[in-house]
Amino acid sequence: MNKLISICILLLISYQVSAQKNTIKKMTEKIKKSESEWKSELSTQEYYVLREKGTDKPSQEGYTSHFEKGTYHCNACNSQLFASNSKFESHCGWPSFDDAIEGTVTYIKDVTHGMIRTEIICASCDSHLGHIFDDGPQETTGKRYCINTSSITFKKK
Ligand SMILES: [Zn+2]
Repeated sequence: MNKLISICILLLISYQVSAQKNTIKKMTEKIKKSESEWKSELSTQEYYVLREKGTDKPSQEGYTSHFEKGTYHCNACNSQLFASNSKFESHCGWPSFDDAIEGTVTYIKDVTHGMIRTEIICASCDSHLGHIFDDGPQETTGKRYCINTSSITFKKK
């Protein structure tokens, strides 16, 4: 009888340990780094935009008027975020997309600067990418994903 009880206890313990392992595994799918690690990996401007939710100055440079075929990745963790076929010229001074690759970005209500906007962050590492507006091309999604050049990196197809 005692033996049976101890086997039960052992099973229970090993079940709990494996359950804990599963939770840890799910959590590590997210990329977590300390702010000092990010700081050492990113340039000053990239860190300001990605980690401190800053904004690049509007410009036609960077990726704003860049229309090569390929994919745009998170500049912090390298996750794929946008395909070049969703990029369009918005003349707003920032790279603009009408859609993100499904499941790669997270939308957050942002009430800073006296405006109600939707912030877009990388779903993998929570880095700031930009904001989403409803003045995008009507023939596609009607959305404008207004993204900072500092937040993304382009990979040619
Ligand atoms: Zn990322």
